[in-house]
Amino acid sequence: MAEKKPKVKIRQGRDEASLTRDLLWDVVAKDYKGLSVLVKPNIGFLGSPGSGVITHCEVVRGVVRFLKDAGAKPFIGDSCIFGVKAEEAFERSGVARVAEEEGVELVDLDRGEAVPFEVPNPMAVERLKVSSYAAQADRIVSVPVMKTHMHAVASLSLKNMKGCLHQREKIRFHHLPERDRFQPWHGQKTLDRAIADLASVLYPDLAVVDGIVAMEGLGPSLGEPKPLGLVLASEDPIAADMAALFLMGFETRELPHLVLSMIKRGCPERTLDDLDFDRERFTALRSPFKRAIPEDISAQFPQFLVTFGESCSACDATVMAFLDRYGVRYVDQEKTQIVVGKYVDPQRLQTRRCILLGNCTAKLKGLGLFIEGCPPVPSDLLKTLEALG
Ligand code: SF4
Repeated sequence: MAEKKPKVKIRQGRDEASLTRDLLWDVVAKDYKGLSVLVKPNIGFLGSPGSGVITHCEVVRGVVRFLKDAGAKPFIGDSCIFGVKAEEAFERSGVARVAEEEGVELVDLDRGEAVPFEVPNPMAVERLKVSSYAAQADRIVSVPVMKTHMHAVASLSLKNMKGCLHQREKIRFHHLPERDRFQPWHGQKTLDRAIADLASVLYPDLAVVDGIVAMEGLGPSLGEPKPLGLVLASEDPIAADMAALFLMGFETRELPHLVLSMIKRGCPERTLDDLDFDRERFTALRSPFKRAIPEDISAQFPQFLVTFGESCSACDATVMAFLDRYGVRYVDQEKTQIVVGKYVDPQRLQTRRCILLGNCTAKLKGLGLFIEGCPPVPSDLLKTLEALG
């Protein structure tokens, strides 16, 4: 008998919570009765509903209401990028209010215990530590906001699971050393391989991709909001991410961590023809996203040259927040290079005015002005630039 195609459904509308709940009644076949379910939105950045930076709180409400109707015991959880306080991020996102109104618990996943997992057929990591909240839930629903991402191309349901890693394990994902025993995968970035490894131990049971207000361009935090007013869902997260990418104007093969996850899960040849989705409708809704190309920061802020060396989101967010708030102040100034991350070749330091941002750049001390911190904050950059004159 031919294998059943994974179903992906989409809804558009104005009442985000209702459309999400109705969508899930249309998509979900599994029984959730009596199960403890982690609803994992992407609310680890400081962002407001509708900003495109974070999952819309009303979509989270729709997921929670569906799960309650289905007899489950849902709770909501996420962890924040370093430098962002969970209480503040959860409050600003509107999800704290939704949790209270819906009578469900909202947890900072970083407050859980570390639960170690062995990774089957590892591509980058043999072991990883996951928050006990995620490890002990009977089911996980990944609820990402649809956005482009400077280091991962796009952030969807598989990438969103990174927030379930325990505390600094998230940072470790950005600084994994190359090991010879993973030789077949050396052509791919360690971050992409590690996301595929994570998907092999913590694969969501349901993916709900929020495209109410998505983000294009310099995601994950400095892109532009892209209002689409839609939500899509599937019980097969790979299928959900493939369909979301199609909507965004990308090919499946453009998202390396998705391709690697498909290899690990035994469906490397899967194409859009293998999905059960309304291709005509998806084609009508397709709206190509601007790519998140790191070099574009220098096009947007020509007085700065930003050099990334496998930095993590926290230092990236510091640079982005700085440029967003203060970048225009420096239009007439001589070019300044800002260096972030551990793996920057000293030969890439090109300007007389060079700032080394964060502890990961410490080994380059002496070649520029070093700012200590993990991560430093935007005002540290401001002070250093003022000192440079
Ligand atoms: S210094 Fe920056 S890039 Fe390095 S680990 Fe800390 S936050 Fe991440």
